[in-house]
Amino acid sequence: MRTAIFGDIHANLEALQAVLADAASQHVTDFVCLGDVVGYNADPVACLNLIRDMGCPTVKGNHDQDASENHPLDTMNQVAASALQWTREQLDDDQRLWLKRLRMVRQVSDYTVVHSTLDQPVNWNYVTNRFDAMSNFSYQFTQLCFHGHTHIPRVYVKSDKVREVPAESVTIEPDAKYFINVGSVGQPRDGDPRACYAIYDLPSKLIVFRRVEYDIPKTREKILAAGLPPMLAERLADGR
Ligand code: ZN
Repeated sequence: MRTAIFGDIHANLEALQAVLADAASQHVTDFVCLGDVVGYNADPVACLNLIRDMGCPTVKGNHDQDASENHPLDTMNQVAASALQWTREQLDDDQRLWLKRLRMVRQVSDYTVVHSTLDQPVNWNYVTNRFDAMSNFSYQFTQLCFHGHTHIPRVYVKSDKVREVPAESVTIEPDAKYFINVGSVGQPRDGDPRACYAIYDLPSKLIVFRRVEYDIPKTREKILAAGLPPMLAERLADGR
């Protein structure tokens, strides 16, 4: 079993299609989605329909939640709020209901998936260092947990203490726990503009991070044509 684990698509269809094509070239057999299917970019409907039709296990992201509800968006930053308001207008009732019904946490095979962290997932806390990761590990009862939310690939390992190892290729050791951020498909923020996801090869206990080029100018044009905030178009090429 080879599983592509991907998230933070953020309505970037070109990036999503590139990741799915790359996964096919890597002989992936299964898919798991870590949420934030929509928000920021210009193709919420196409991305949602594609992932819904794949029927893969999917957890809810904060943008999925906000797009599926009607509450005011005044606690959010202006750019995210105006993109979400636009996203709400694109989705029909059925699509919003699909987002609303996504679960916060799921167990898939022998591992757990969550958008932000297992430590109070409804609060959408960001895990940016090993101390944040420690809070998660207190609630992690499987050896592996995959998450997203920060848009930065990271691997935290807990053995006698919690440490961070490079997000490249990771062999799962029997006596450690792993909390793995698979990065972002549709809006990477680690300075590398290529779409990011991970492949978990269960028989060999190997996790490999993949970076995939996609047609950024096309995504950029769609964002501008939709009337979304221009900074959302500009940031993609910088990977910020
Ligand atoms: Zn996100």
